[in-house]
Amino acid sequence: MSFTLFPDTRLALARDSLAGLSVGDALGSQFFVPGRHPGDLTAGKLPPPPWQWTDDTEMACSVVAALADAGRIDRDALAAAFAERCEPYRGYGPGAVTILRLIRTGTPWPVAAASAFDGQGSCGNGAAMRVGPLGAWFADSTARAAAQARASAEVTHAHPEGVAGAVAVAVAASLAARARLDGHRPAPERLLAGVAAALDPASEVHRGVRRAADLLGRPPREAVEVLGNGSRVTAQDTVAFTCWVAAVHLDDYPAAIRACVEAGGDVDTTAAIAGSVVAAHTGVGTPGGVPTDWLAAREPLPDWST
Ligand SMILES: [Mg+2]
Repeated sequence: MSFTLFPDTRLALARDSLAGLSVGDALGSQFFVPGRHPGDLTAGKLPPPPWQWTDDTEMACSVVAALADAGRIDRDALAAAFAERCEPYRGYGPGAVTILRLIRTGTPWPVAAASAFDGQGSCGNGAAMRVGPLGAWFADSTARAAAQARASAEVTHAHPEGVAGAVAVAVAASLAARARLDGHRPAPERLLAGVAAALDPASEVHRGVRRAADLLGRPPREAVEVLGNGSRVTAQDTVAFTCWVAAVHLDDYPAAIRACVEAGGDVDTTAAIAGSVVAAHTGVGTPGGVPTDWLAAREPLPDWST
């Protein structure tokens, strides 16, 4: 079934997803500060503000700005925006810093992206961490969400798994936002089946999402053991777990973030991804949505952000 989605609605959905992404990123990264314990969050004790956001949020803001500007991803423009706005102290990995420096100094993005990791291209979780709001923007079409996610990933991630990770997260956010418009919550197995259907069956990310569906109803500890928690910072060991968290907690943003924090690993990124998908469904300040006091504790988004 097709329907009309006006630009203002797309932007509102993308902004809600970005709020969930940036709060998850900023709160998640607090648990790398010595002396902070996941148990504090479980007990309802929040770290003192402000919570600084990291590379996940910086890049996601560029994705949303690109869509607000043109309604679609122009790969050349997005690559230039990523490169110009990169503040390396925001926690970018060394591979990302190198690619973005090459682009900033005039290397075409296809060359820069392909040169990473001895010519294999990056399969890092960086294309997945920034793409949730793009999926929410394309709430009317998982096919467009997937195609545009691919375009947004390719400028830095030439490895097929890095791209697959972005496609998975964008499709999850598209389905989550669509369900919000339709006024229902999809069953976890339906959401994961929708994500798996958009992926190349030969990819590890696809296998992970299928495994995530088999782990519904199992304790989070078991899901982490099988799916990973991002500690290798690859798409393969990040995306399936975050999809599992989002599917299980689609109507409860704080619970999704707590699950990511308790899982350990690349917490700012797992919380950013799961948070972007869940917030596309719940919104901000709603029952189960991004709590307004969490949003207020997050460092303001960059001035150039739309
Ligand atoms: Mg980060």
